[in-house]
Amino acid sequence: MNKSPILAHLCCAPDALYVVGLLQAEYEVVGLFYNPNIHPEEEYRLRLAEARKVAEHLQFKLIEDIYDPETWFRLTEKFKSEPEKGRRCNICFAWRLERTARKALEAGLPLFTTIMSVSPWKNSAVLNRIGRMTARKYGLKFLEADFKKKDGFNRSVRLSREFGLYRQNYCGCLYSRRPVSP
Ligand code: SF4
Repeated sequence: MNKSPILAHLCCAPDALYVVGLLQAEYEVVGLFYNPNIHPEEEYRLRLAEARKVAEHLQFKLIEDIYDPETWFRLTEKFKSEPEKGRRCNICFAWRLERTARKALEAGLPLFTTIMSVSPWKNSAVLNRIGRMTARKYGLKFLEADFKKKDGFNRSVRLSREFGLYRQNYCGCLYSRRPVSP
């Protein structure tokens, strides 16, 4: 049976290892790495390199998009003091999902999604609402999900540990970096 294609926005390798594996049961997954929120650039390069390992392991095509943090900083500047899960995050989600929709359109893929809802720090209702609105704008479909369900986050942590993947200790942007204890 031919599986339907889907473009999945990937935020990091540990989450991708679990969620893409899950999606592959039903879909022909193409991954997109578009994360201009990640700071500094060395951290971005490290997360991208780990995402490549997952793509090779799970045998899916990975589209590596541009790294344009300047635009991201401009968009979120006003909300730099917001806590995680606040308005800055909504803008960050919307910007990355907008780009994912455009890439899906370019690649002729009618369906897209993001794996971000696996994180306990990400509100799936917000992600799904933004995804729906973005899909409507481009005449596409968005796969709504909450991948943290069914113990999703812990499974992703376990799996990525077994695989020896780097797991970051902050979401990605400069504002989400927490002071490291001495
Ligand atoms: S905390 Fe994470 S989701 Fe929120 S703005 Fe920063 S990188 Fe984006």
